[in-house]
Amino acid sequence: MALNRINGPEELFVGGIFGVNRPRVIHEHKITHVLSVIQYSLDTLEDEVYRPLQHMTIDIDDMEDQDILVHLPKMVRFIQQGLHEQKGAVLVHCAMGKSRSVTAIVAYLLWKHPQRFGLGRGDAKVDAKEAKEAVQKAVELVRETRPIAEPNEGFMEQLEMWVAMGCPADADDAVEKNVKYQRWLYKREVETAAAVGRAPDWIRFEDEEAEEKKKQEEGGTFELRCKKCRRRLATEPFVVPHQGRGNKGKDDCPHYFVEALSWMRDTLELGELEGRLNCPHPKCGSSVGRYSWRGFKCSCGDWVAPAFSLQRSKVDKVTVTAGGRKGGPAGADEIASRMAALGIRMPPGQRAENL
Ligand SMILES: [Zn+2]
Ligand SMILES: [Zn+2]
Repeated sequence: MALNRINGPEELFVGGIFGVNRPRVIHEHKITHVLSVIQYSLDTLEDEVYRPLQHMTIDIDDMEDQDILVHLPKMVRFIQQGLHEQKGAVLVHCAMGKSRSVTAIVAYLLWKHPQRFGLGRGDAKVDAKEAKEAVQKAVELVRETRPIAEPNEGFMEQLEMWVAMGCPADADDAVEKNVKYQRWLYKREVETAAAVGRAPDWIRFEDEEAEEKKKQEEGGTFELRCKKCRRRLATEPFVVPHQGRGNKGKDDCPHYFVEALSWMRDTLELGELEGRLNCPHPKCGSSVGRYSWRGFKCSCGDWVAPAFSLQRSKVDKVTVTAGGRKGGPAGADEIASRMAALGIRMPPGQRAENL
């Protein structure tokens, strides 16, 4: 079978090179739009049947580490346009009609018909298990008519992320702008760099990302401060849970792992694979922990990578009340930390509010 129609109400077809370059087949199925998920030109095909076709090419390889995710909105929009706005018939092809083209079709089906695959409409949160099942079901639907359909493992994972992100296709760059995607891309960069023993080429400071800043404002229930000068080093939302210990539970780990935060910039931008973390307060600078892009093992047995650790003995965990940080009169801790910022130390035992 050169081309296979996807079961359902739409004139949506999948195929390989042997489908697209047969004029008779294109004619027979009244194809109006061709999406090539491979480098491919229709210009070299002589037959008249190719002249009126609308064509889009997405040039990617069928490799697990290829980023197909970033192209999904464009492809989904092209399919939607062909099928529904122009009431045509769309052929999606790659070399074999097995991995790349099927990935594009599955992304479209999940976006267009979420309820067919057990997903709710709208913004309902989808967990990892639901995303995986939905992707499986959509691939199985394609397999009903094209048994060889099988996106490679990397593409399957990216399809799951597509679902978890809510299938963002309202613009061609909808994935590119998505925070989840940016974080995923960054994680890949860190892993690739660490695998060859170097620091990543660029660093994402989580507290500088727009959405993350909001998270920081909202605060959480505790923050970690330098024991010496009381500068705030991390708030709860930026503490990375590891085995759920050391952070919220038993507090028996020697490390608090946190995300890369902007106060670490000068240190991290040296480009070293690992090193010390010092308190950023200009008058303090005491050693508060260490980092490694490769990651390291906490004494509780958990491996954290990359690892930015604040040593438990060097920081204080301070409980904060909701909204306490914003507005309202400053608390004693706040006053103490402001005074410390000015280089003023309080005598031991003396409390700020007594001054
Ligand atoms: Zn300090
Ligand atoms: Zn631990």
